[in-house]
Amino acid sequence: MCGIIGVFGHKEAAKIAYFGLYALQHRGQESAGIVVSDGRNVREHKALGLVADVFDENTLNNLKGHIAVGHVRYSTTGSTTVKNAQPFFVTHGKHTFALAHNGNLVNAHLLRAELERQGSLFQTTMDSEVIVHLLAKALRRGILEAIKETMELIEGAYSIVLLAQDKLIAFRDPYGFRPLALGMLNGGYIVASETCAFDLVQAQYLRDVNPGEILIIDENGLSSYQAVESEKLAHCVFEFIYFARPDSYIFGENVYVFRKRLGFELARECPLKTDFVMPFPDSGNYAAIGYAQKAGLPFEMGVIRNHYVGRTFIQPSQSMRDFSVRVKLNPVKEILRGKKVAVVDDSLVRGTTSRTRIRAIREAGAYEINMLISCPPIRYPCFYGIDFPSRGELIAAKHSVEEIRRYLELDRLYYLSLEGLLRAGGESNQKFCLACFTGNYPVPIQAGLSKEIFETQEPL
Ligand code: 5GP
Ligand code: MG
Repeated sequence: MCGIIGVFGHKEAAKIAYFGLYALQHRGQESAGIVVSDGRNVREHKALGLVADVFDENTLNNLKGHIAVGHVRYSTTGSTTVKNAQPFFVTHGKHTFALAHNGNLVNAHLLRAELERQGSLFQTTMDSEVIVHLLAKALRRGILEAIKETMELIEGAYSIVLLAQDKLIAFRDPYGFRPLALGMLNGGYIVASETCAFDLVQAQYLRDVNPGEILIIDENGLSSYQAVESEKLAHCVFEFIYFARPDSYIFGENVYVFRKRLGFELARECPLKTDFVMPFPDSGNYAAIGYAQKAGLPFEMGVIRNHYVGRTFIQPSQSMRDFSVRVKLNPVKEILRGKKVAVVDDSLVRGTTSRTRIRAIREAGAYEINMLISCPPIRYPCFYGIDFPSRGELIAAKHSVEEIRRYLELDRLYYLSLEGLLRAGGESNQKFCLACFTGNYPVPIQAGLSKEIFETQEPL
């Protein structure tokens, strides 16, 4: 997962990109980078860390130009090193490119092996670097042709912004797995993973970059090309369930409202009589509000979140994860003591953080704990950019709901049904990628990536 931003036609493009990345920080906390161009010179700054730590007045003042691309990274492929930080910046003959990618290619390893056979030297372990090599190879035929040819070869999920000297280019895979929105900023343009990046800089949302579309923005304005026909849409439904910010519009819809509808559906499927409803904040808040409203129950914050801790998943090592769980949420004994509660969360992945949290609210005095999850059991890994890559790590892949309930030490555990999820999706429900719930992968997974699907899990 990652967040990307592109800016064209603003005299302080790097500052706009910085504010945009700040709003997109939830999409990746490992590294941040901005590349800027004044039409002739291209400058970059990137480092490991949060946006606020990576940039200061000085670095931003040195990034002069009216075109910028930026990236916040949360690794799904490639390890956490500054070499793997994006935008990926290269010079090829007279041409300079900077590319920022959100998503995950499913055939990058095959393309890379082929390119290496032909003599390409790779600098990083990122799938995104493959895209840069393919672009460079086809560049003789012009940038538009080069992108079209590249889009014919790469498979999987990609929302991309590309700075090519005097142009800002955006393109998106024909399935539209990851979001990518287009906005207007004082006569210039802005492209970002989520519209929350527009709000902060007071840009107006125009529309999404269409699946399969290439947008080229330069001195002549904006031109659009439908490079690849989009036959079937596969928007990542997990963006709505968990990943995107609730104040954003993605795939043409507001995330908050969508999550509330998930809560309504949960209340329809599993109405409970508890003393109150509480979320595991922040991700569970919106479905919990929906559930409480529909079930006519009071809403309480039974645990308090410490906001100065990053998202637990984003720290890649298991040993750090447990610590973050404890430091992140603290139960309020006064609220929980002697109570029968309905806890709502957006999803269960490994089950490890939930187990720790549930123990904590039990110790704080809740005597009956019912848990409601606002999506179906996640049984299959994602190969399109969400970080639950191996089946062995997914608790629902090998365990029944009853086994999970016992492992989590719950009185009741209820997952929203797939039908409920689709009902919440309303008209858009034909357009979703549901592979993590169903195992139906819209873009086939290539050999070499799929072996993980068959990994088994140790007994609990
Ligand atoms: P678990 O109990 O399965 O270890 O963790 C469940 C929690 O992880 C939920 O609160 C959910 O919001 C969060 N979660 C689900 N998917 C992701 C993800 O891809 N990244 C991060 N950082 N958290 C996730
Ligand atoms: Mg959460």
